[in-house]
Amino acid sequence: MADTMTTEQRSRCMAAIKGKDTKPEMIVRKYLFSRGLRYRVNDRKLSGSPDIVLKKYKTVVFIDGCFWHGHEGCKYFKLPKSNIDFWRHKIAMNMARDYATTVDLELAGGRVIRIWECEIKTKIQQKKVLDELYDRITGPSQVPFSYLTTDDTESIAAEPETGYGEG
Ligand SMILES: [Zn+2]
Repeated sequence: MADTMTTEQRSRCMAAIKGKDTKPEMIVRKYLFSRGLRYRVNDRKLSGSPDIVLKKYKTVVFIDGCFWHGHEGCKYFKLPKSNIDFWRHKIAMNMARDYATTVDLELAGGRVIRIWECEIKTKIQQKKVLDELYDRITGPSQVPFSYLTTDDTESIAAEPETGYGEG
């Protein structure tokens, strides 16, 4: 039987179908494991079923695909030429859901770290991003995306967004 897909296309295709165990996720998991961290994956009990859940650090990690999660300005985020409104809408919905998920988890006292797939695409960048990720997970909880640092819920309204959702 003729097979016209390249290996890359096929693996992207499979990843899209399964929606989990995609390669960038595996890279992150393997790295964190090698640094001694233990975690659950695709925890459906939590909002957004985070890719990686580190209970000990009250931290969850999402590895966001640049296309589906709308990475503005990224070369991997190119809308298809046909049905452009459909795609724009779909991706806007995904981004809104990502934002709501982040807020949900933070309100529940968790720390949410999101990294873009493209950040770990190249080997050189990968090492740096993963090292930083480890430091953010194990370090104190002042991370850029976590504006909720105390139990004082009033501060939520007072604090401006820290840029999450813009890209
Ligand atoms: Zn990207």
